[in-house]
Amino acid sequence: MKLKICGMKYPENIVEVSKQHPDYLGFIFYEKSTRYFNGEIPELPKSIKKVGVFVDAPWEEIISKIDQYDLDIVQLHGNETPEFCKLLQQTPIEIIKVFSVNDDFNFEVLAPYEAVCDYFLFDTKGKLPGGNGIPFNWKILKKYNSAKPFFLSGGIGIEEIDKIKKMNLPVHGIDVNSKFETGPGLKNASAIRELFLHKNNIMRTTYNVNEKGFYGNFGGAFIPEMLYPNVEELRQNYLQITAEPSFQQEFSNLLKDYVGRPTPLYFAERLSKEYNTKIYLKREDLCHTGAHKVNNTIGQILLAKRLGKTRIIAETGAGQHGVATATVCALMGLECIVYMGEIDIRRQAPNVARMKMLGAEVRPATSGSKTLKDATNEAIRDWINNPENTYYIIGSVVGPHPYPDMVARFQSVISAEIKSQLLEKEGRENPDYVIACVGGGSNAAGAFYHFLDDDQVNLIAVEAAGKGIHSGESAATSALGKIGIIHGSKTLLMQTDDGQITEPYSISAGLDYPGVGPMHAHLYETKRAEFLSITDDEAMHWGLKLSQLEGIIPAIETAHAFAVLDNKKFEPTDIVVINLSGRGDKDLNTYIDYFKF
Ligand SMILES: *Cc1c(COP(=O)(O)O)cnc(C)c1O
Repeated sequence: MKLKICGMKYPENIVEVSKQHPDYLGFIFYEKSTRYFNGEIPELPKSIKKVGVFVDAPWEEIISKIDQYDLDIVQLHGNETPEFCKLLQQTPIEIIKVFSVNDDFNFEVLAPYEAVCDYFLFDTKGKLPGGNGIPFNWKILKKYNSAKPFFLSGGIGIEEIDKIKKMNLPVHGIDVNSKFETGPGLKNASAIRELFLHKNNIMRTTYNVNEKGFYGNFGGAFIPEMLYPNVEELRQNYLQITAEPSFQQEFSNLLKDYVGRPTPLYFAERLSKEYNTKIYLKREDLCHTGAHKVNNTIGQILLAKRLGKTRIIAETGAGQHGVATATVCALMGLECIVYMGEIDIRRQAPNVARMKMLGAEVRPATSGSKTLKDATNEAIRDWINNPENTYYIIGSVVGPHPYPDMVARFQSVISAEIKSQLLEKEGRENPDYVIACVGGGSNAAGAFYHFLDDDQVNLIAVEAAGKGIHSGESAATSALGKIGIIHGSKTLLMQTDDGQITEPYSISAGLDYPGVGPMHAHLYETKRAEFLSITDDEAMHWGLKLSQLEGIIPAIETAHAFAVLDNKKFEPTDIVVINLSGRGDKDLNTYIDYFKF
């Protein structure tokens, strides 16, 4: 939901309010209004659109104000006809047409305006053309059946925002004015600050987890009874412990001095030139141990210590999460046992050696297909048998609640940094696109987290199509998956008709997972994120291309994300952030085999 703050008047006040980055600022060019504007508009951040508000003003006047103030949008508050709007459409400006509403409204009057304006705005009918300071009966908007985005205006304060949220109205943006003023045209900066905080808080619930551990239809904790005490102990404590100042201090110190954060947000000049758009790379490959995974294992080991646990277990497929866990156990001097399928132990010898060198014990899982899912079963069995002293570190946004939420929070440092780094480099916090590869979904969750509720930020999740989505050898969960339960969580997963989990395949071991985390299942279902699948060949091509274009050898997982550049068209002014989740050293043998170096 966008925020428009209308009736701005005083330069210092405008600067103050613009610091909160509203989506729109409105200036009223109607002389009879107490908020009539005829001063200078100070320099504003580029992301804020300037709206000029007019009431039956002559064409020439509107054109001259557009010119003088470099307006982005005109808002027409009088009896302007569809023909008048059509004339204005010849300018590059966007048009908001206002309709005043009281207890009833004939929605048919909108029809002639559909094609000639960009937005509708519904305001309360009263003595004045707008600015009456009271809401109308919003219930009648349930009858709104146009696809045109609309703003809601009239006496909106914090309480009203809650009401709009509860009524679930399809509002594009809300327009606030008098409720946030100390005098006509003078906004109360602290009330505006509060408004933004509040909006961000209540909006957070939309795509994020709810108090029961669900993301829409997905998530929860579907676990055997024997596991319940362990998971419940974690659920009851994770939010409180991670919110403690001493925890936050220790976490951020380690991220800074041990992991090497903040990781750079690097403007990829040669890549940007080739694709004629602005591409930034979030350099998680520069984290200690070579990928984002360590952000999460640091968070969880600090939590384990505060819960009084002395023994750490984990499961690993390709070995990356095992290495990240063994690393933080060494750092904290805790016992570490990593379960790994017997076949994976053979396939991933260098990572096995790393774990051993870091002091961890690698225990082979010898049942079933002897891969990740069997290792997971072994780890769960261990945890059930050692509930008192053992903590189970899960490596992605998967597993029973609270794991997906907890891991997403630890990884959310990625998007928090992107925001402040972009603000510094581009004068705005929000990019147009964030792109990340998805195995379980933790690097994507971290890169998306603080943008989830800003729907002007497009989110793109990239899965592994292996040898082709329909080749029978892929890990394209969103395209192929159905609802099911894996690792204690209800989510999308690849399964046979009778519900057996199918063996996934990707050339990159880190994307080779038959499900996605529940957050991503929800992002897919609600279409909040776009999901693309990229084949082995496309990813390998990009591994080589990024190496030679930017001097960065990416992990093969990460290379999948870059292939989006060949599959989607971006505008020259778009800011595209690609989460560079990890470096490719670990994949050198696969690259050698593929390219026959
Ligand atoms: C493990 C890994 C992934 C996939 O895991 P997510 O939880 O989806 O992030 C992606 N990239 C790299 C470099 C990895 O090591």
